[in-house]
Amino acid sequence: MSSDRPGILLAVSSPSGAGKTTLCTRLRAEFPDLGFSVSYTTRAPRAGEVDGREYHFVSTERFDEMNYGGEFAESARVHGNMYATAIKQVESAVATGRDLLFDIDFQGAQQLTSHHVFERFITRVFILPPSLEELEQRLRKRATDADEVIERRLRMARMELAHYHEYEYVIVNDDIDRAYDALRAVYLAQLQRVSRQHGAARELLLDGD
Ligand code: 5GP
Repeated sequence: MSSDRPGILLAVSSPSGAGKTTLCTRLRAEFPDLGFSVSYTTRAPRAGEVDGREYHFVSTERFDEMNYGGEFAESARVHGNMYATAIKQVESAVATGRDLLFDIDFQGAQQLTSHHVFERFITRVFILPPSLEELEQRLRKRATDADEVIERRLRMARMELAHYHEYEYVIVNDDIDRAYDALRAVYLAQLQRVSRQHGAARELLLDGD
C-alpha cells in the first residue's frame, strides 16, 4: 500500500432527482485523475448507457454468483434492482493511491465505511434537494417515469434523506454552480490532507540537507 499518497474514496449519495449525477460528472470532467467506480447492476441499461462505462450490466444469476464469490465490497437493492461495487476496484485504488468517486446509495456508503480497510480512506458527501416540492418537480420534468413511479421515488427519497447525518459533508443543491463549488471544495480539501502531502513536505525537508 502506498502510504505516501493514499487514494481518496469519495462517496456521493442523494435521493434521485437531487442533481448528484450532474455534480459527479462535472467533478470528473474537472479532475480527470479522479476515477469513477463503475458498479455492477441488474438493472437494464437506459438509452445512451454503455456497458462498462456507466455500469457493468449483468444478469441476476451473474450478480448472485459474484456476490456469493465474495467479489463485492458492498451491495444493495435500490428501486428494485441490485447494485454493487467490485472489491478489486476499491482495493486497487487504495493500493495505488488512485482517487475514486462512488455514486452509491446510503446502504453502500454504510457498508464501505464499515470495511476495516476502506473506512480509513472514505469521505462521504450527501446531496440534498432544496425542498421536497422541488425534488418532485425535478422528477416530473424527467417525464420518463409514470406517476406511481414518481410517488414511489418520493417515498424512497424521504427514507434516504433520513440518512444525511451519516455523512461528513452535506450539500444543498439549491443552485447547481454553488453546489458544485461546495463539492469541489470538499474534494480539494481531501487532497490537502497531511496524509497526502508527506511526499511534498519531505522533498522540501531533504532540500535543506
Ligand atoms: P440509477 O439506476 O438511477 O443509476 O441508480 C439508482 C441508485 O443506485 C442511485 O442512488 C445510485 O447512487 C445507486 N447506486 C449505483 N451504484 C451503486 C452501487 O454500486 N452500490 C450501491 N449501494 N448503490 C448504487
